Amino acid sequence: MRHFAIVGSGPAGFYVTEALTKAYGDQARIDILDRYAVPYGLIRFGVAPDHQSLKAVSKRYDKVAETAGVRFVGNVAVGVDVAMEDLTSLYDAVILATGAPYDRKLGIPGEELRGVIGSAEFVGWYNGHPDFADLDPPLDGAAAAVIGNGNVALDCARILAKTGAEFGGSDIVSHAFEALGKAATKVITILGRRGPHQIAMTPKELGELGHLEEASPVVDPADFPPRAADEALEPGQRKSITILREFAAKPVDSAKPKRMVFDFFAKPLRIEGDGKAERIIVERTRLDEDGRAVGTGETYAVPASLVISAIGYSTPPLAGVPYDDEHGHYLNDHGQIGDGLYCVGWARRGPTGTIGTNRPDGYEVAEQVAAALPSGSEGGKAGGEGLDALLREKGVEATSFDDWRTIEQAEEAQARPGSPREKFVRPHEWMKVLGR
Ligand SMILES: Cc1cc2nc3c(=O)[nH]c(=O)nc-3n(C[C@H](O)[C@H](O)[C@H](O)COP(=O)(O)OP(=O)(O)OC[C@H]3O[C@@H](n4cnc5c(N)ncnc54)[C@H](O)[C@@H]3O)c2cc1C
Repeated sequence: MRHFAIVGSGPAGFYVTEALTKAYGDQARIDILDRYAVPYGLIRFGVAPDHQSLKAVSKRYDKVAETAGVRFVGNVAVGVDVAMEDLTSLYDAVILATGAPYDRKLGIPGEELRGVIGSAEFVGWYNGHPDFADLDPPLDGAAAAVIGNGNVALDCARILAKTGAEFGGSDIVSHAFEALGKAATKVITILGRRGPHQIAMTPKELGELGHLEEASPVVDPADFPPRAADEALEPGQRKSITILREFAAKPVDSAKPKRMVFDFFAKPLRIEGDGKAERIIVERTRLDEDGRAVGTGETYAVPASLVISAIGYSTPPLAGVPYDDEHGHYLNDHGQIGDGLYCVGWARRGPTGTIGTNRPDGYEVAEQVAAALPSGSEGGKAGGEGLDALLREKGVEATSFDDWRTIEQAEEAQARPGSPREKFVRPHEWMKVLGR
């Protein structure tokens, strides 16, 4: 029998668990630990609430959690409630699937002003992440800006632009739903240092902007290279650029009161304001021969009382685990950190790719584990029983997958009309549902 601990119950944690159950059958016991009593990582706290079909991937993870030999052990923060050394002494292998929840900093003056927030904070706020429930983003200004040219930037901009009716069927938490309903936002500027060809936005997410009730996208036709240059793009990117070109060709819909302005070749230099964000000073850029953005010296101001930076994430370091400072994730060689210690998902390769990208990643690492510790071999480790004893000794109240089901049902039971659930946001609320 082999004992494995997976730290993190997001997509990467579940895919590697799935792969290990296939490789080991009944010859492994697998504990999936998470700091929260609610599983699924960014599926719950990151993926946009109006993208319910994507969130449905958690049904697949449920099956994994219900597989014989697999346990969900919630409410246990590794590095806080238990140390890495505890896990490495209790389990044959430990696989870190802790994601990349920290916002990368802009590193420009004015970043500390009120109204300047990271996308992890904003996204966490509207998705009911306990750390950001009290964020209270300033929504009383007419102008907001999102810095970044990826799908997360699009999510933030779209959520700011939507009407209450457009959140029908979503699981946006009520504190965000109500605040956004009263928001004064009219113009959302999406700033990118490079041009349309360099965006990391997928066609589905871009296409949605063309169908919003009250907002229309604004794109400057002058920002595009000659159309023939699109031929060199890979098909998905070409589709995205085609959508952007369509936005640029259409006259702005004057019946819609909100604008989503794509400001390409725009490098934020500083954020200015009297104690709070009022404007971003931006330098116009151009691309050099290597495709890098270089400043032209021309500057201008983009008004914004809310500035959301969506420029990437990093993994928090864990005591005892080597860390790659340059890339912001654990130092690893194809997922292996050291003897019996591995990482998967965003904690392995940084914040790139879709949910599905974490699947081959998890399977690859499970293969390495199985090669190092062949099925049928014995490690003599205490595994989950040892963890339970340690948690009792430390007075940590772990939660199970059945506990999560209880929380889930309670959330569904108190859903408001048109919403599949009303999330409980704070850990004490989850524990209250469990009668603890
Ligand atoms: C805003 C946003 C929107 C996205 N939208 C989409 C989308 O529409 N479609 C798509 O395909 N992909 C989307 N993605 C990408 C997708 O969410 C990621 O690919 C995926 O979640 C990464 O999985 P992960 O398991 O590595 O990390 P995560 O999902 O972040 O999971 C990490 C888990 O580890 C736990 N954890 C962290 N530290 C500890 C610790 N010390 N102890 C115990 N537990 C810990 C966390 O609580 C969490 O449950 C989006 C990402 C973001 C940020």
